[in-house]
This record gives sequence, C-alpha cells and structure tokens, in this order.
Amino acid sequence: MTDYDCIIIGAGFGGLRAMIEMRRRGLTARVIESGSDVGGTWYWNRYPGARTDSESWVYCFSFDDDLLQDWDWKARYPDQPEVQRYLAHVADRFDLRREIDFDTRVECAVRDDATNSWTVSTSSGNQLTCTYLIPATGPLSVPYLPPFPGIESFRGEWHLTARWPKESVDLTGKRVAVVGTGATAVQLIPEAAQLADHVTVFQRTPNYVIPARNGMLGDNQRRSIKAHYGDIWKQVGEHVFGMAINAAGRVLADVDGAEARRILERGWEVGGFRFLFESFDDVFTNQETNDVVSEFVRDKIRSIVVDPTTAELLCPKGYPVGGKRPPLGHHYYETFNRPNVSLVDVSGNPIESVTEAGIRLADGSEREFDMIVFATGFDAVTGGLTTIDIRSSAGVSLAEAWADGSETQLGIGVTGFPNMFMIGGPGSPIGNFPPAQDVAVPWIADAIEHLRATGADAMEADQSAMQAFGRHLRDMIDATVFGQGDELRSFLIGANVPGKPHVPLFHFGGFPAYCKELQDCADAGYVGFTIKAAPVRAHV
Ligand code: NAP
Repeated sequence: MTDYDCIIIGAGFGGLRAMIEMRRRGLTARVIESGSDVGGTWYWNRYPGARTDSESWVYCFSFDDDLLQDWDWKARYPDQPEVQRYLAHVADRFDLRREIDFDTRVECAVRDDATNSWTVSTSSGNQLTCTYLIPATGPLSVPYLPPFPGIESFRGEWHLTARWPKESVDLTGKRVAVVGTGATAVQLIPEAAQLADHVTVFQRTPNYVIPARNGMLGDNQRRSIKAHYGDIWKQVGEHVFGMAINAAGRVLADVDGAEARRILERGWEVGGFRFLFESFDDVFTNQETNDVVSEFVRDKIRSIVVDPTTAELLCPKGYPVGGKRPPLGHHYYETFNRPNVSLVDVSGNPIESVTEAGIRLADGSEREFDMIVFATGFDAVTGGLTTIDIRSSAGVSLAEAWADGSETQLGIGVTGFPNMFMIGGPGSPIGNFPPAQDVAVPWIADAIEHLRATGADAMEADQSAMQAFGRHLRDMIDATVFGQGDELRSFLIGANVPGKPHVPLFHFGGFPAYCKELQDCADAGYVGFTIKAAPVRAHV
C-alpha cells in the first residue's frame, strides 16, 4: 500500500492540471513544488517584461467551461503577474493547495519493481511512496548560466532572469549589462532601458524578433471570445502549434512579389506568431519562402533602427527564420534608437570573464557595470528531469539512461521507468503548452484507469518504440527549418548547453499529428508500451 496513488513533481501548468485530473478520477495525489507558490516557470521568471508569447485566451486550460467563462484576461499577452494570478485562481478554485508541499524539492525518486512503487525523497526529509510518478517539471525550469569565470567576484548586483528575486530589483539609474538576446532578453531589454542609466546588450546571435502588438482586451472582445470558445478550441486542435490561428491557405508560390509583400506587411501589423502562420503555410518547410520572410524581417530592422551599424548587427544572417525560436518583441528594435542603449557584438569576441567591475571580452576590453543580468536560457526539457535523481529498480538513473540523448515513447514513458508518466517530457509537441497538457494529462489518467481496470500493475515504454519515436522526431524536425539548429546552439535540440547531446527535444510534426499519435496508441491497446502484472521485470 503506497502513501498516494500519484506523486506529481511541480505545480506549474502541467502539475496543476494533473492534480485536478487525478482527483477527478478518484486517485489520491500529492504535488511537490520547489517554489513557495504555484506557477512553475511563471513563478520563477518574474523579470521585468516577462509575459506570454501566446494569446491569453488560449494560453490557459480548456477543460472546464466555468473556469473559461469566469476568468477575464486583461491583455492579448498577459504579463507574468497576470499568469501567476490565473494559476493561483485555478489552485484556489479547485482547492489544490492542501495537496501541495511548497518550498520542497524532490531530491530522488526510486522505483521498486518488487513492490510496484516509487519512493520519493524530498528536501524536507520526507519519504513518500506512490504507484505512479508524474514529473511535470516543465520544459524551461533549469536555468543555464554559462561558466564565465569571476561571476562571484563581481562587486555589483547580478541576476539570472529565470531566478529573478521576488523583492523588486531596482534598475533605476544603473549601468546594466544584459547577456543574451533570446526571447527572455528581448522582453527585458525595452523595460530595463526605461529605468536604467544605460543598458548594454551583449549579443552573440541576433534573432528574428516579430512585433507582438500587445494591447488590452476590450469587454466586447472578451465577450466574443467567451461566446466562441467551442470554435476557438477546435481551431487550436487543428493548428500546428496549438494556437487559435487559421492556416493561411496559401504558399508563397501562389502569389506574385507585390502580393507577397502586401501579405507580409499585413502580418507584421497584426503581429505575434500570426505574422508567420497567417502569411504563408510553407514558411518553415520551404527554403525559398523562408528566405523571402527572413529578408522581409531584415528590411524591417533596417527601417526601424536608425544607426546602420547597429541595424546590421541586429539583422540575423545565414540562418532561416525559425532556425532559432523567434521571440516576440515589444518595441525591441525601437529600443536600440535610445541614447541609453548600446549593443556589443560578442560573436567573434566572446565574453571571457566577469571581473570585479564588469565584463571582460576576449580582446581584453572591459566595461564597467552596476548590474549584470544573465538571460542565457535553460537546460531545456530534460534539465528539470535529470537534475532529480530518478532511478530505475535496477539502479540506473534517468540521467544515465539519457547520457547519449533523451529517448521516450510519445514524450510520456521511458524504458526502465515503469509507471512514470512525464508531462511535457522530451518529444512532446512544440508550441502552445497548456492545450498540449489538456490532451496529455487525460491520456495519462486514462492509461492509469486502464491499468487499474485490468488489474495490471505497471506500464512501461518499449525500447523499440522509443527508438522508432526518436527516429520519427528526427525525421519531423529535418523536414522543417528547425532542424538547422546545431551551429545555432538552439535549445530546441539541446545545442545551447555545451556537452548536451543534440537530439530533437520536441515533436515538430504539429499538435494535431501528435494528438492523433496519442489517440492511436491508446486505441491500439497502448502500443509501444508493455502492460505488466506483478512482479515487474526491470529492463535496465
Ligand atoms: P535562449 O533563447 O536560449 O537565449 C539565450 C541567450 O543567451 C542567447 O541569446 C544566447 O546566445 C545567449 N548566450 C548563452 N550563452 C552565452 C555566452 N556564453 N555568451 C553570450 N551569449 C550567450 O533563452 P531564453 O531567451 O530564456 O528563451 C528560451 C525560451 O524560453 C524561449 O525560446 C521560449 O520558448 C521561452 N520563453 C518564452 C517566453 C514567452 O512565451 N513569453 C518568454 C521568454 C522565454 P546564442 O543565441 O548565440 O547562443
């Protein structure tokens, strides 16, 4: 007899969704959360400017109509406090807090085949047992800080965006360095520029930044969204990235040059990912189309940024739009026209160290700062899982099992780790995460119900199925421009963290295709998994 049916790791979108579902299915569950509140990545990433890149009305749970009708989103892209409030509202509305251990980290989780259980040890010294382990650690939970020597010697303040202090950080009148120009830095830089005396941006690779065109939602818009949620979720279910956006219905070759320009201009004004998805359907799959869209963005950068040298440095070259995940900007390029913002290109002259006074580059030049902000990304997808000591019954850790690259069946199961069901594990669909969890979590709950209904003990991914799924992930990414990320150090394939194996960390076949694969698997009796009666034999 275990303490709980399920132990869920993490109280972000995935963990909260899992807690609600398991309880609805009559299973007992406990959530272990390292933060002192719900939110997951939205709890930790509270840097100035943090907000979603997905439109609010679909960056939320779809499973409960009352929740959808009761919650009023304020902006097209909610900021961190608004998302945090939403998740706190969900936790309170479904009375989840009493089943969450906050400020508690799962240190290890060990599977025992003989007793068909997992023993979970936490930072508070507790040991809890469960039958089903549900890691919901999130794709972006472990920050990556490059090993710059000297960080600890810096006399000013330094911060990681992904661990931004709860107490407000005062940038006013300070000389601030920002390292990185990914989606996080792109949000932070315009905010920092309004407060700081001077912001110096250290850029290694420029990005294709699309204007977000944020705005407050009006009452009529909110009413209309609520009245049409049925259609909206249908659209989400049919969209490659799980967004409420219709396919463009055309490819570049369907139109002449002038019409292509008009379409892209319109998309640029509408903003957000609509620029990419509503313009042409082959932006990510056809090099010629991608070239036209990429050049259009470079033209925009040159037209916005007044200083031609800065403009050229900000222009991404030699790689396609989508090669790295395109950030959404809120007056990002315009910010470089401010007299208190400067750009330092470190592509050929890398950061060598952090000194007592600031940042030193390889050529020996040094700049002094009062504050350094590292917006240097994440050990994405696998980091949250491999930093926990998750062990098979045979004593093999998940980190060891994935030493040559993560392998999963459908992003959910791993050979050697029976009854571990990951939410958002490697191979889950890229795109808008909450709708993906609204599909994956009920699938997992169905699988558990299936086990219990048939008197089976455990479900374990088959090695051959994981290998086939790995090949499938590779084929899918290779059919798109996302696969060109090796030299670009793209986190989508683990290439941003030195030494991390380069494998596709997401399913790039589109959200509808992934949902169908899940459904087909279940319909075929959970093909690719072995369902076992006790005693369970270990595979690793
Ligand atoms: P990121 O895209 O991985 O960007 C990290 C940045 O740090 C890059 O510009 C990288 O340069 C730079 N960097 C790393 N090591 C460096 C070094 N040694 N020297 C100089 N620069 C270095 O990370 P992120 O910006 O945190 O974004 C990660 C993901 O989080 C996003 O793509 C998105 O999925 C998510 N996110 C979402 C939102 C949202 O939805 N609103 C907001 C923020 C983030 P290189 O490119 O040259 O490696």
